[in-house]
Amino acid sequence: DRLITATGQDREEQQDRAIRPLRLAEYIGQPVVREQMELFIQAARGRREALDHTLIFGPPGLGKTTLANIIAQEMGVSLKSTSGPVLERPGDLAALLTNLESGDVLFIDEIHRLSPVVEEVLYPAMEDFQLDIMIGEGPAARSIKLDLPPFTLVGATTRAGMLTNPLRDRFGIVQRLEFYSVADLTTIVGRSAAILGLPTDAEGAFEIARRARGTPRIANRLLRRVRDFAQVRGEGRITRQMADLALNLLDVDEHGLDHQDRRLLLTLIEKFDGGPVGVDSLAAAISEERHTIEDVLEPYLIQQGYMMRTPRGRVVTRHAYLHFGLNLPARMEA
Ligand code: ADP
Repeated sequence: DRLITATGQDREEQQDRAIRPLRLAEYIGQPVVREQMELFIQAARGRREALDHTLIFGPPGLGKTTLANIIAQEMGVSLKSTSGPVLERPGDLAALLTNLESGDVLFIDEIHRLSPVVEEVLYPAMEDFQLDIMIGEGPAARSIKLDLPPFTLVGATTRAGMLTNPLRDRFGIVQRLEFYSVADLTTIVGRSAAILGLPTDAEGAFEIARRARGTPRIANRLLRRVRDFAQVRGEGRITRQMADLALNLLDVDEHGLDHQDRRLLLTLIEKFDGGPVGVDSLAAAISEERHTIEDVLEPYLIQQGYMMRTPRGRVVTRHAYLHFGLNLPARMEA
C-alpha cells in the first residue's frame, strides 16, 4: 500500500472531516481560484440565482471535494454528492436531480467516468433544467419531460482532457487546481496540527510540508504519521528532527518522493535508457495501472521537472539522474 497516496478511504477520513476547511476564507493557497470563486459566488448571491455550473480539475488530494463543499456552504445551499462510476443508469441520475431543491449543488466526482447514456441526461438538465428520459421498454416505452429547479452542477476530474467536449462546454466556470507551494502547505500543516491539538514547531511543519508532494491530503497524512512517531520515539512534540526521522522511516525521501515515484523514475532510467517510452509499456514494467501513472504519479514528477511527456513517450530529465546520484548519459552531458 502506498503511504503517500492521495486517495483517502481509511478511517482517518473522520479526522479529515475535522480539518477540512468549510469556508472560502479557510481555503489556503490557490489564490486565483479563491479570488474568482469569491467573486462569482457573491455575484450569484446578489442576483439570487444558482451559481453557474463549475468544473474543478486537478490531481487527487488537491482540494476538489473541499471546494465543492465550500461552494455550497458559501451559497447557503445543500450539497448532494455522487461520482461518475456510481451513476450506472439514467434513472440513477434522474433520482438525484429530482431530489434537488432550488439552488442546490450536485457534486459529481470523477465526472469523466460517466457513462455516455447518463451524460446524455445531464446535457438538458444542465442547459435548460429539464429532465428528459425514457421510461419503460419496447412498445410501452415513453419519454417524460420534467422541469427541474435551477441547480449548480460541480464536477471534479483529475484531467480535463478526459471530458467530452459537449460536457465540458456546459460548464460556465472552470477551475484548475495547482500543486501547493511549500509555504501554503506549511500553513495547512500548522492549521491541522492546531485543530488536532498537536504541539508543533514551525520547522517541523515546514519539514512535513516540503515532503508532501505539493498535496494537502498528503501533508495531513504525513502529519499524523509524524505525530505517531513523535509520540513513541520523542516527547510528542513535532519538531524538525522528529519529522525528518519519521519521514525517512516511511521511505519518503528528502524531496518528498516515495518508493513508487523512485521506482517509476529508476525503471525509466534503467530499463528504458531514460525513454522515450509509451505509458503502457511503463505501466507494465512497474506493474501499475496506466491511469495511476497518469493521474497520481507523473503529474507531480513532471511539475518538479524529473520527467516529461513527449509525443513519443515519457522521458526522464537530467534532474532525475542527478536526484539518484547517477552519471548523466552522454547525450545529456552537452
Ligand atoms: P480531492 O477532492 O481533490 O481529492 P479533497 O478536497 O478531498 O481533495 O482534499 C483533501 C484534504 O486536503 C481535505 O480533507 C482537506 O483537509 C485538505 N485540503 C484540501 N485543500 C485544502 C486547502 N486549500 N486548504 C486547507 N486544506 C485543504
